Amino acid sequence: MQGQILIVSGPSGSGKSTLLNRLLKEERDLCFSISSTTRAIRDGEKEGVDYYFISEDEFKKGIENGEFLEWAQVHKNFYGTSLKPVLAALNDGKIVIFDIDVQGFHIALEKFKSYITSIFITTTNKKELKKRLQNRGTDNAETIENRLMNAVGEMEHILEYDYFLINDDIEKSYRGLKSVVHAMRLKSANINLRQTVDSWIDC
Ligand code: ADP
Ligand code: 5GP
Repeated sequence: MQGQILIVSGPSGSGKSTLLNRLLKEERDLCFSISSTTRAIRDGEKEGVDYYFISEDEFKKGIENGEFLEWAQVHKNFYGTSLKPVLAALNDGKIVIFDIDVQGFHIALEKFKSYITSIFITTTNKKELKKRLQNRGTDNAETIENRLMNAVGEMEHILEYDYFLINDDIEKSYRGLKSVVHAMRLKSANINLRQTVDSWIDC
């Protein structure tokens, strides 16, 4: 398999989707791994674009059938990455992006370590994270508290990631994320050695 995986983790509300949506619009060859989730759809989200929104029963069936590369319970809901489309994209030489939590990152590392580049994205501080979650207006006070508590635990794992980004100035953060993707494209492991050397000699 010639492709690669970019894992993006970080507290909910830190700006991962905002940055990734822009990246995916501009870099059309990237492939976003659409997760399945049991959480309710938010205003502005689209089925089959942001997530596949499924019931808990369907999710559990998916687990039994071995359909997930990884799955985890986050903020009382289930989230999982489908194995089949990821394998197809990797076989196709694509860079596949996972927006997943720390638990999912650990499982993915066990199975696909040599394919993975990872980045942890967060805010300047917890107060800013709370402000963003409140401004986003998609979660009630209890859910926000739950997400903030979870964020504190996730921050302890920063050093396990290849890259670390504080998403303060959005333009600066976007440039940072884009640089990581560009560096991935330059990885020597990503080239077909025979083809590269032969065509270099022939010209
Ligand atoms: P995540 O995908 O990590 O849960 P979102 O992308 O939904 O986070 O962003 C959470 C909120 O923060 C959104 O309302 C978004 O518009 C806002 N946001 C994202 N990045 C920034 C930034 N650099 N500065 C201020 N607000 C931001
Ligand atoms: P949200 O509900 O805000 O969209 O996502 C909540 C958290 O679940 C985020 O940390 C996000 O990265 C994580 N997440 C989304 N999809 C998956 C997935 O397929 N697997 C795992 N392990 N986490 C996911």
